[in-house]
Amino acid sequence: MTETDASCDGCGSFEARCYAESWPLRTAFVISRGSRTEAQVVVVEVSAGGVTGVGECTPYPRYGESVESVLAEISSVLPSLRSGLTRAQLQQALPAGAARNAVDCALADWEQQRAGNVDSGHAWLPTVQTLVIAAPDAMAEAARVAAGRGVTVLKLKLDRHQVLERVAAVRSAAPECQLVIDANEAWGAEGLPDLCDALARQGVAMLEQPLPAGDDELLATFPHPLPICADESCHTRADLPRLVGRYDMLNIKLDKTGGLREALALAEEGKARGFELMLGCMLCTSRAIRAAWPLGPSARFVDLDGPTWLAKDVDPLRFEGGRVYWTDKRGGEGG
Ligand SMILES: [Mg+2]
Repeated sequence: MTETDASCDGCGSFEARCYAESWPLRTAFVISRGSRTEAQVVVVEVSAGGVTGVGECTPYPRYGESVESVLAEISSVLPSLRSGLTRAQLQQALPAGAARNAVDCALADWEQQRAGNVDSGHAWLPTVQTLVIAAPDAMAEAARVAAGRGVTVLKLKLDRHQVLERVAAVRSAAPECQLVIDANEAWGAEGLPDLCDALARQGVAMLEQPLPAGDDELLATFPHPLPICADESCHTRADLPRLVGRYDMLNIKLDKTGGLREALALAEEGKARGFELMLGCMLCTSRAIRAAWPLGPSARFVDLDGPTWLAKDVDPLRFEGGRVYWTDKRGGEGG
């Protein structure tokens, strides 16, 4: 995919609308911050010249967002979209976050369709499969099932309890799988260097956001025996200077960067500063995964399994054997 500016020459303006959707999950999604049983997303549609582009975002309370606040933010730029707001102008019109993401992705989708470009560039991407917090034997069973389906990288959601027990249970249930951990800010600084050493000895390949974002400076005080990845601490390029020396990887999500445009810029500048990349997503439909697709090839870890948690998806991509396969919106496979 290529990225150009949606200046809409010859179209003049976009018809635009936004609305909320709720997608029930097939099973509860449990992380250190709490449990979810549905994915609440906000959708933006922009139409011009007989083409409709669609973008989706997931408002996230951790970042002060709700469905209502995101709908209000998007509504504030609908008049500008109707008078020809470009993607470049959008960067100034809204702050980085879910609302700008949905608008930017709708405009990007419109550009791609108008250019007749439905080719993803890559027929498939590898994706990790998330294991949510549960008793060690339940996480082990989930790992066994995933490994049996061909998944090769498992991401363990963990809180501060039974960390090594849960990792050991999953490790023994899926000895061939690569393991990464996401603590979602739940751990404390005390004992963290020793815990990192223990995780590295268990072969854990990466640790995501162990400490609250406000405690990042503590990560600079000990050598990292495994890469530590910034998620809640990394939203846009503006965060990069204070992440250097504290983190080794960046988890890039379009809902944090405020769309594909800033995500691509963050990936480029992050790599130039020596960070490895992870590509992540929120609980979302396949619409959001399609939008993030161009970032996949540059990421060491691709974590795009959000739609696999839904009871029902829209324009579904095919998830199979630790991979997500591109399909066009009529269901055909391509690349
Ligand atoms: Mg995370």
